[in-house]
Amino acid sequence: MGLRETFLPWPVLRQARAVAGLPGAGRGDRSGRGDSARSRVTDRLQPRTSTADRVVASVCPYCAVGCGQLVYVKDERVVQIEGDPASPVSRGRLCPKGAATKQLVTNPRRQTRVRYRRPYGTDWEDLDLDTAMDMIADRVLATRDATWTDEDSQGRRVRRTMGFAALGGATLDNEENYLIKKLGTALGAVQIENQARI
Ligand code: SF4
Repeated sequence: MGLRETFLPWPVLRQARAVAGLPGAGRGDRSGRGDSARSRVTDRLQPRTSTADRVVASVCPYCAVGCGQLVYVKDERVVQIEGDPASPVSRGRLCPKGAATKQLVTNPRRQTRVRYRRPYGTDWEDLDLDTAMDMIADRVLATRDATWTDEDSQGRRVRRTMGFAALGGATLDNEENYLIKKLGTALGAVQIENQARI
């Protein structure tokens, strides 16, 4: 057992001894702001990044800057997310929102099932994904049929629908936005936007 564990454990006393140059805790810490200022609790702490089983490179999901992230995993659970120094975009930095990405993944209140509130309903209900996808497809097709325009008021060929639009959020990645734009345009929609562009 070391001296720090048995002798004058209170940090302020160790600091005073270190500044006075007395033997004991904080040897060589003449400013009293180094080792002698650390409590035993702090001594026992370990960063989650040092105990992770593996580290996975990823990209922040929040905005179009696309800062690089390192996702630390232990026992198949995300334990920490930090900036990736190897990213040419962000060079290890994350803004406060990006630095809080871990809660996006691990928050116990995160919704993981489809939630549906039907017209005139007073509460949310669960839907299975297949049912929800069928409902969306039916409504998109019905709206397209009902609002399809071959020509505008001046007789010009437009072949479009103004009946639905897409507004993507910044948590969509490049590939998702590409597919949304591709699908929307193929359906005849012209109002396709993304938060990152606004
Ligand atoms: S939200 Fe912040 S950390 Fe994430 S990509 Fe945008 S600027 Fe980078």
